[in-house]
Amino acid sequence: MELVREHFADDGSGARHELVSYHLGPASGAPLIHLQAALHADEQPGTMVLHHLLDLLERAETSGLIRARFSVFPSVNPIGLGTRILTSHIGRYDLASGVNHNRRWPDLFGAISVQVLDLLGSDPTENIVAVRKALGNWIDILPPATAIQEMRRAILRSAAQADVVLDLHCDSDSLMHIFTSPEMSRSMAELGGYMGVAAVLTAEDSGGGSFDEVLPVFWRKLAQASPQHPLPMPMDTATLEYRGRADVEDATGRDDAERLYRWFCARGYITGEAGEPPAPAPVRPFEATEVVRAPTAGLLAYRVALGQRVEAGEVIADLIAAHGDAPFRERVPVRSTTDGFVLSRQLVRQVSRNGPVAKIVGDTVLPTRAGGYLLED
Ligand SMILES: [Zn+2]
Repeated sequence: MELVREHFADDGSGARHELVSYHLGPASGAPLIHLQAALHADEQPGTMVLHHLLDLLERAETSGLIRARFSVFPSVNPIGLGTRILTSHIGRYDLASGVNHNRRWPDLFGAISVQVLDLLGSDPTENIVAVRKALGNWIDILPPATAIQEMRRAILRSAAQADVVLDLHCDSDSLMHIFTSPEMSRSMAELGGYMGVAAVLTAEDSGGGSFDEVLPVFWRKLAQASPQHPLPMPMDTATLEYRGRADVEDATGRDDAERLYRWFCARGYITGEAGEPPAPAPVRPFEATEVVRAPTAGLLAYRVALGQRVEAGEVIADLIAAHGDAPFRERVPVRSTTDGFVLSRQLVRQVSRNGPVAKIVGDTVLPTRAGGYLLED
């Protein structure tokens, strides 16, 4: 296993940030697996999973069982990892620009489609190779002006060539779930079965330019722009939400790593026993998930637990408001607007007006969500 340290200068101090990754498996000719955690640097469950997975991968390598090239970034955002305000960790946003670390990744189609479309021919495999090469060349010559851009370039350089890209995150207080693109729903439902997730939520483009969508959006637009040339989606990519922010334990991290490892075995990336394949996880369009928001600021008193089924109109929480006719006594009901189950809640119970209260996963697309911006922030 090879340890790689990439460095780039901090914009303010000039001190060096260090991006750590581990690489193992055949150097060429094998499928590429890109794994990363803590792009939102204050979300640690994924780092714990990869910490344990690295042990398993190293053992497999020593035994000659690795059939794919693995690139593992256990904590992929060293800038966010070090961003503290007083005693609070600000890992979700870049402090200098206010940009969410998992939003506004570059529009690759807009950047390079003109030169890439000319490369396409009649052979799908050759098309994928040519596009990946052009993509890699473009990433290499990007002139990064800031530390964030240097970091994103290093991450994209690895992910753009990969056959599997898994971005490990967590929610606030949540059941496990997966976000992915519709083209990958079958393979990610299989992965979700091994992981034991509550749902796989699919969207072509949830509107934020999130990391797990930047590559599939690029490949999809290329194929649509050149229908006369065969260009299959060449990768599986997903955001894996490993429960809530407080759910960081050795035992769950080790179990989650073993589940990922078994899926790698099932896919043939590692020689080993995958066990009986579990039932695939349920797949739902992300537009069928309601983000219930607070009608006013207040202290949340939840009436529902994670996983609980609710009906449209059902009160899922009360808000204890600091203002009004009876401050700290009056309770304002918060209602679900759809039938479904409670996927996530808020760990911090004092919410702002219009702040998220819960995600409710339903079965059918909601008119309020279809075609809109689907993310919480
Ligand atoms: Zn996240």
